[in-house]
Amino acid sequence: MGKIYSGFLACSSGASSRSLAFKRGSNERVVLVSKGERSAEDFAIQRGGCAATVLGGIMTNWQSRQSFLGQECANTLRDGRVGIVGLGGGGSHVAQQLAHIGVEHFVLCDPDEYEDKNHNRTVGGTPADADAKTPKVRIAQRLVRAINPKSTVSALKHRWQNGLPFLRGCDVIFGCVDSYTERDQLERLSRRFSIPYIDIGMDVSKAECGYAVHGQVVLSLPGSLCMHCFNFLRPELLEMEAREYNHAGGRPQVIWPNGILASTAVGLFMQLIAPWHKNVNVGSVMYDYDGNRHTMVVSPRVAALSSMVCTHFEDVEGEGDPFWNAGDGVTSMMRAVEKWCSERRST
Ligand SMILES: [Zn+2]
Repeated sequence: MGKIYSGFLACSSGASSRSLAFKRGSNERVVLVSKGERSAEDFAIQRGGCAATVLGGIMTNWQSRQSFLGQECANTLRDGRVGIVGLGGGGSHVAQQLAHIGVEHFVLCDPDEYEDKNHNRTVGGTPADADAKTPKVRIAQRLVRAINPKSTVSALKHRWQNGLPFLRGCDVIFGCVDSYTERDQLERLSRRFSIPYIDIGMDVSKAECGYAVHGQVVLSLPGSLCMHCFNFLRPELLEMEAREYNHAGGRPQVIWPNGILASTAVGLFMQLIAPWHKNVNVGSVMYDYDGNRHTMVVSPRVAALSSMVCTHFEDVEGEGDPFWNAGDGVTSMMRAVEKWCSERRST
């Protein structure tokens, strides 16, 4: 059996019945399982196969058209908790799709309020929201609950760094942010707590004959290649962004590339928890999106790095400790949760 990372349980909230067991190595899969059923028998991951029998599930009529994902998938989706950081053009798409699929528990983080300029791309936003300056997390929360009234949504109108106690209890985190720095931090958080991280982003740049629309989707799995390995995050980019921080303007964003990127990200999420065919990648992966040619392909870097082992998080992976000081954003609740987690880890 593969190693089960204790960090998942150390930081999950007490009464919740969800946890994520991560197993690494060839022919192993990541599955979401119920904490209450966390015996070795539950991890019936078939070598070379694709299905992981986790729990008996109750599939609703609503989900009957996705029955190929397996009977247990409904429970897995219902009991899991997904974090989405950034509820703009990309994150709003992700939230909507996850709610339709059957995810019921969400942690949403975004400090921004809805404005006129967001109306070209944010799913669920209305002119009334622009007038009222509705927080983006509230729009996403409303969208999710309209799709599934049983959903529980922690809508955090804060910088995500202030929502660490919530995020580290998530089973998967989606990063839909603009900056390289935030991507780097989110990946570090995910590695610390052995949480699969899925990152999406798009950009528009000047090209010879007009503009180039492009983007990427990265699935970064604990124990596998990271965004630094893929050379997507590079020290010079992080340094340049830090230098130009005060001059950063809003990046061009439009709805259709964000929809494609978000759909690919949700597809990777589903492949992770309910693989429906045998020929799947078992490690981290990066996709390159070319919005001018309308193509999404696996980055050539993935094959080029197939024999490489990530060394960027050797010292911190699975540690589960806070890795930066959230400064003034540290709340008594965060301290209490951290204390609780520390105690759990030491027992
Ligand atoms: Zn790496």
